[in-house]
Amino acid sequence: MNSQVLVVGGGPGGASTAYWLARNGIDVHLVEKKHYPREKACGDGLTPRAIKQLLDMGFDFDGLDLHRVYGLRAYAGDLKIELEWPDHSAYPKWGATMRRADLDGTVAGLAEKQGAIVEQGTTAMPILENDRVTGVTLTDADGERTVHPDLVVIADGSNSRFGRGVGAKRRRDFPYGMAVRGYWESPNSDDSMIESQLDIRDAEGRAMPGYGWVFPLGDGEINVGAGLVSTFKGWKDINTSRILEAYAQSLPERWKITEETNHTRPIGGKLPMSLSVGPKVGRNWILVGDASGAVNPFNGEGIDYAYETGRMAARYVADALAGNELALAGYNDELEEVYGDYHRVARIFVKAIGNPAIMKTLTTVGIRNRPLMEWTLKVMANLLDPEEAGMSEHIYTAIERTVNVGS
Ligand SMILES: Cc1cc2nc3c(=O)[nH]c(=O)nc-3n(C[C@H](O)[C@H](O)[C@H](O)COP(=O)(O)OP(=O)(O)OC[C@H]3O[C@@H](n4cnc5c(N)ncnc54)[C@H](O)[C@@H]3O)c2cc1C
Repeated sequence: MNSQVLVVGGGPGGASTAYWLARNGIDVHLVEKKHYPREKACGDGLTPRAIKQLLDMGFDFDGLDLHRVYGLRAYAGDLKIELEWPDHSAYPKWGATMRRADLDGTVAGLAEKQGAIVEQGTTAMPILENDRVTGVTLTDADGERTVHPDLVVIADGSNSRFGRGVGAKRRRDFPYGMAVRGYWESPNSDDSMIESQLDIRDAEGRAMPGYGWVFPLGDGEINVGAGLVSTFKGWKDINTSRILEAYAQSLPERWKITEETNHTRPIGGKLPMSLSVGPKVGRNWILVGDASGAVNPFNGEGIDYAYETGRMAARYVADALAGNELALAGYNDELEEVYGDYHRVARIFVKAIGNPAIMKTLTTVGIRNRPLMEWTLKVMANLLDPEEAGMSEHIYTAIERTVNVGS
């Protein structure tokens, strides 16, 4: 079987690319090395941006185990602020949580309904000649075969063995994240807000680098996780599981976190950020989602950016198949146009918060200032309305001023 386009990976990036290609009448074959429902280390959190992408793909929000959330409760130590998702002309005023084990297979199913072939339990590896993928080896339980697609979409996630196989590399000077999560049973599983802690302390009260979250799943369990970014001091020597342990122990009593309510061993993963992986296109291949480093450095969100970059890539792939040999290069330009400025500000921001003094000031001073926090949420979740977009630099300046006032 030789399809025009082979999509490698059936997470959000691959499923969305396959969906938009198939909807455009293109013959597309997606291969996923695992079987749905497959586990993925993730907070399971969907912002309004991600909801918009799901809405556009015709996702059925009512028939599923999806839990709607209406905002964020942020903590800095014991200081707390509750913020609703902002009003926006394009995005809904709600987000959600849904286990990735359920979400990803469902979205791949939407691509299948549009006509994509979705093959599970199959691992793809490239055969490369002069920057062109001349063949792809597919390995499944029955053995090995080679296919020869015209174009390959690489959506194989943060480890991206296929991506490295075609020569893609991560920029070491760009930020990078690590995070870990576990599931706990909780009487507050139906909380309608996601929660984050910006100031994690160990049992002795010493500050630890990193952030923590509680994302209620609405099904009797909560997703509790912790992460850190490479700009944090000494980050390589810090074990994310230890941060999660400290955070879980410090959580308010109402979540009822104990060893007995934790049913699964926490698992972790990498967060390649700020479009740090490249080149993003070759002669007949293109990177999307985590394989391209698409995670938002401000908040560690990657599901939406996998959907968005997949959707964007599908347009350039369609154009290339229609005979425009230079089409794929346009993807680079659009990524820069849509995300370039935003990521530049985000990189400055995560560098600043890597300094413990700045982080402390930001969290303790900033959290008392509601208007500033409302803007911060808008910027961090990339929810500025088009007419406000130029404001992100101003907001950063405002955050910087807060830092200076507090230091
Ligand atoms: C602990 C943690 C918490 C996170 N929390 C959130 C969150 O709450 N919200 C959010 O938006 N983002 C979160 N993220 C980021 C998010 O999980 C990723 O950005 C997102 O999954 C990227 O989607 P993707 O499709 O690019 O890659 P993936 O979801 O990783 O999908 C890649 C797929 O490719 C398959 N694959 C790999 N290699 C091959 C191969 N050779 N052949 C065939 N198939 C292959 C894999 O099995 C996998 O299914 C979190 C990440 C971590 C680590």
